Amino acid sequence: MRVKITVKGIVQGVGFRPFVYRNAISHGLTGYVRNRGDAGVEILLEGTKSALTAFLKDLQNQKPPQARIHEIIKKDLNGKNEYAQFAILESSEEVEHSGSVVPPDSAICSDCLRELRDPTDHRFDYFFITCVNCGPRFTIIERLPYDRANTTMREFPLCGFCLKEYEDPVNRRFHAQTVACPTCGPKAYLTTRTGRAVIVQDPVREAGKLLSKGNIVAVKGYGGFHIASSVTLKEPLLRLRESKHRNAKPFALMARSLEAVESFAEVNPKEQELLTSPARPIVLLDKKPQYDLSELVAPNLHNVGVMLPYSAMHYMLFDQVSDRAFVMTSANPPNEPIVKGNEEAIRILGGNVDYFLFHDRQIAHRCDDSVTRVHVDRNAFIRRSRGYAPAPIMLNQKAKRCAIGLGGELNNTSCVLNEDKAFISQHIGDVENLSTRGFLKEATTHLIRLTNSRVEAVACDMHPKFTTTHLAKELAEKNGWQLIQVQHHHAHVAALMAEHSTDEIVGIACDGYGYGTDGSAWGGEILHCTKRSAKFKRLGHLEPQPLLGGDVATRYPIRIAAGMLSKRTSINDWLMQHADDLPHGKAEAILIESQLKTQAQRIPQTTSLGRVFDAAAAILGICYERTYEGEAAMKLESEAVKGKDVLDMASVICRDTIDTTQMLLSVYENRDKYSKSDLSYSVHTYLANGLATLAAEKAVDLGVGTVGFTGGSSVNGLLTKIMRKVVEAEGLRFLVHESVPSGDGGVSLGQAVVGGFCRF
Ligand SMILES: [Zn+2]
Ligand SMILES: [Zn+2]
Repeated sequence: MRVKITVKGIVQGVGFRPFVYRNAISHGLTGYVRNRGDAGVEILLEGTKSALTAFLKDLQNQKPPQARIHEIIKKDLNGKNEYAQFAILESSEEVEHSGSVVPPDSAICSDCLRELRDPTDHRFDYFFITCVNCGPRFTIIERLPYDRANTTMREFPLCGFCLKEYEDPVNRRFHAQTVACPTCGPKAYLTTRTGRAVIVQDPVREAGKLLSKGNIVAVKGYGGFHIASSVTLKEPLLRLRESKHRNAKPFALMARSLEAVESFAEVNPKEQELLTSPARPIVLLDKKPQYDLSELVAPNLHNVGVMLPYSAMHYMLFDQVSDRAFVMTSANPPNEPIVKGNEEAIRILGGNVDYFLFHDRQIAHRCDDSVTRVHVDRNAFIRRSRGYAPAPIMLNQKAKRCAIGLGGELNNTSCVLNEDKAFISQHIGDVENLSTRGFLKEATTHLIRLTNSRVEAVACDMHPKFTTTHLAKELAEKNGWQLIQVQHHHAHVAALMAEHSTDEIVGIACDGYGYGTDGSAWGGEILHCTKRSAKFKRLGHLEPQPLLGGDVATRYPIRIAAGMLSKRTSINDWLMQHADDLPHGKAEAILIESQLKTQAQRIPQTTSLGRVFDAAAAILGICYERTYEGEAAMKLESEAVKGKDVLDMASVICRDTIDTTQMLLSVYENRDKYSKSDLSYSVHTYLANGLATLAAEKAVDLGVGTVGFTGGSSVNGLLTKIMRKVVEAEGLRFLVHESVPSGDGGVSLGQAVVGGFCRF
């Protein structure tokens, strides 16, 4: 018999061809295997029927750990057998199928780590040791097929030793495109902040020692630069905060080992699984009571973001120091993408660091670290990037049309929906300026090319002024694609439905801001959505509240609190007491009061849950100025986890609106009677109960069996826990995100599925 098999999925760059080779040989089959230009693998087999059956069974059951098979296409061939043996052929440039993709970057495997530490091994102490099972992939691939010549490893021709391994079918580095050694591979080197070489024997370990002594070092990783420092010394941390213009935003850490993490943070089994997984995300962990790292790392938060080393270089940083962890924060200037080039790094970061730890391999694609959080035993992505992107989210049906989603404005990603696979890009960031817009365009184009997608529609937000809306219009016009605008919270709910293969849902979508169908600011929404319809119904929402001063109100939560409270009580004294917490002092306090009195009708309104959290945080003295996205909400949750419900308020629901003024007033009136923690907890209880009760009621009325929670606020573990209880008590199913970001990083997926599945 002769057959031609095409395998689609993540099958290039994961040791698939060597696996096929060994499998074919073991069953006595002849023919060939080769990579294709569309990221698939093509296999031609000649042999007996029973051998072929056995081969196919092993293909599914014994595939390499990083491989994902999405589809096997089998075609019987006529004619006589042609092959006397089985071989791995040169890759073909042929592009026929679509939807396969390159694998994400993967952390160093245990075999490579063992060799790194073995003095008799050829790659002993080599910072860039990798094999067919580990190392960078997505961040080094410029084009397909995945051959060394198409990656940034092409500048490093293999030495005799590496070549021998590369060509040996039984070797772990057989056709491993990142294979390299101290003789032929990339080199690490240390420089001063101006790029002047610092000549040392062992640049990586020297960098570790510099960090330990209090220096700030920019370290080049797989997808970009990190800025690293000590986690206990005050001086470099203060300097880092100043230079990054981050007064309070928490820094992520890299810890030397799991034991080290456990000395300052709680780690449950699910968190341990994530920390040690090949994706090596940053996991937000609860601080232990005996947490003893500097308070400057994650100020006023109950949790801290931690990852484990993902490359040999990272492991080696800790070799000659006793530090349990280093700060490892993404090197990106405000609103700009993560820095990836060596010269770019000196230009942009030189003023803020003491040293650079470089290597001389180029980064093809930027890719920030992923950030995740565990709710009980569920994974909640805050950012899905390195280690995950661009692996697709699998849907249960093929889309009607190939659509891309360009996302929103902040924390953005883009998404390519091709048949039953949704490819979400790496984290792009806030696309407000030219360089991030360029990054979005480049990342999306690359993703379309990698997946060989023939795009028919482009979906974007409804906001008329978003950069992404302009870009979508431009692309639609230029390429003749259909343009589809999707409401922000509808996109959140659509993403949740797609992730869980649900056709109908009552979705609770809460966050800081989304442009509503009426042009006003939404953010505490209950929507009825179905998979087939591009329309949705707004069933309910939080009470609209005044947003005095627009963006200024978002920055200074006292304004929101004042606006809400002034509906029911006089806030004059309170505002004056807090005049110093406003940027313009007393004059501003007086102005706020008079505007609330005289212009009440003209102040824009918002139904945002985030803004209610802001107001509560201001009243409780937890946050007067928001210096990073979600700051007040995060700090309020950090207080709440230590508290209990003391207000015991029943939800005040008037028709389809959940009252928030009364609750805030109670917090205000009781602020001296109860602790911050108890009142923070009570705010959570009230809002979660109100939203979940109204959503469940609507679901029962409509005969819909599922209620879901999505949007940036659904990262909040306490809200989620309370809502789940209310919804499940009604006998309904409760859904939250597990493999897609809950916040705006998931919007592009929602847009793409509305664009790809709905009737228009
Ligand atoms: Zn390895
Ligand atoms: Zn070599």
